[in-house]
Amino acid sequence: MTVPPGSTIGIVGGGQLGRMLSTAAARLGYKSHIFDPHERPCAADVAAAFTRAEFDDRSALERFGAAVDVATYEFENLAAEPLELLGDKLRPGTRSLKIAQDRGTEKQFIEATGARVAPWRSVASLDQVCDAFTGLGSPIVLKTRRWGYDGKGQAWIHSERDCAGAWRAIGEEPAVAETAVDFLAEFSVIVARWADGRHAFWDSAQNEHGGGILRRSTVPCSDACAVQVAEAREAALRIAEALGHVGVLTVEFFASADGPLVNEIAPRVHNSGHWTIEGAVTSQFEQHIRAICDLPPGPTDLVGSGAVMDNLIGEDVNRWPELVATPGLHVHIYDKGEARPGRKMGHVTKVER
Ligand code: AMP
Repeated sequence: MTVPPGSTIGIVGGGQLGRMLSTAAARLGYKSHIFDPHERPCAADVAAAFTRAEFDDRSALERFGAAVDVATYEFENLAAEPLELLGDKLRPGTRSLKIAQDRGTEKQFIEATGARVAPWRSVASLDQVCDAFTGLGSPIVLKTRRWGYDGKGQAWIHSERDCAGAWRAIGEEPAVAETAVDFLAEFSVIVARWADGRHAFWDSAQNEHGGGILRRSTVPCSDACAVQVAEAREAALRIAEALGHVGVLTVEFFASADGPLVNEIAPRVHNSGHWTIEGAVTSQFEQHIRAICDLPPGPTDLVGSGAVMDNLIGEDVNRWPELVATPGLHVHIYDKGEARPGRKMGHVTKVER
């Protein structure tokens, strides 16, 4: 059912993705209401209302649910069960969240849709980590099943001697062990899906990471990725359909010598789609709002010939005087306060004409 402009969109999570969703929603005439436990989340500064409460505070969630016309979430490290209080108003629903927030469940789900992931195993003890290292071949990476992001909760194992240290480094938490992929490049497929199955893709960005954090996204991607995009899109759409996903879904891929392998899925707008704000006719943020409010899909064509998006991580943001003085550079500063190392503080996009 269409949620008309003038309505209120609840956004669970108040980070930069919530900030950019709120800004896109406001352009279409919607008000945003942010739900977040922090004192001053950066999305609240651009929203009409803010509830400060823990994500599992049921009475606060009930009041929030009553105050909004539709609700969404902007990150996946949330307890899914309390969000069920939001009922049908929550788009996407908790199924997408539950599957994407556990790396083991996620990989099983992806494989069940017919898409491929790197060889992997579940591990829950040091013995199992050692067995996985022997069974999967060297090197492997351990990733906690839950609560990891931007390379956190991950440790590499290059020799048997590393097993105990890596297991300790990830906090001896249930994890997945996966084979290192000797990838040609990394790219993402971002798809927006409507409840009736309509969907839209953007051009795929090639993504460069450093220390587990996205540094740069480039559109168009290189030929090594481009030849794998059609197969990757089919896989992403099958995943979105199997989830019954409504809104934007991101699937990150490794372009490997034998085709695209899914790295992970995010049931939301994604850092590798920030370039769409200026680089595409309809941004991922606006399209997410369109999909959850059941407005028609916007065109996703490129505005120019491509775009390059660079993240401003930690102290990079202090370069703002030079960046805002550079003609043609679109500067986004999230106003998150302290520029801690590894923290995403902003991004810049250059659209290629
Ligand atoms: P993730 O948090 O799983 O997205 O991992 C962050 C980044 O670490 C990825 O984008 C890759 O650059 C790298 N990485 C993660 N898993 C693997 C893997 N199995 N093989 C090679 N590189 C990986």
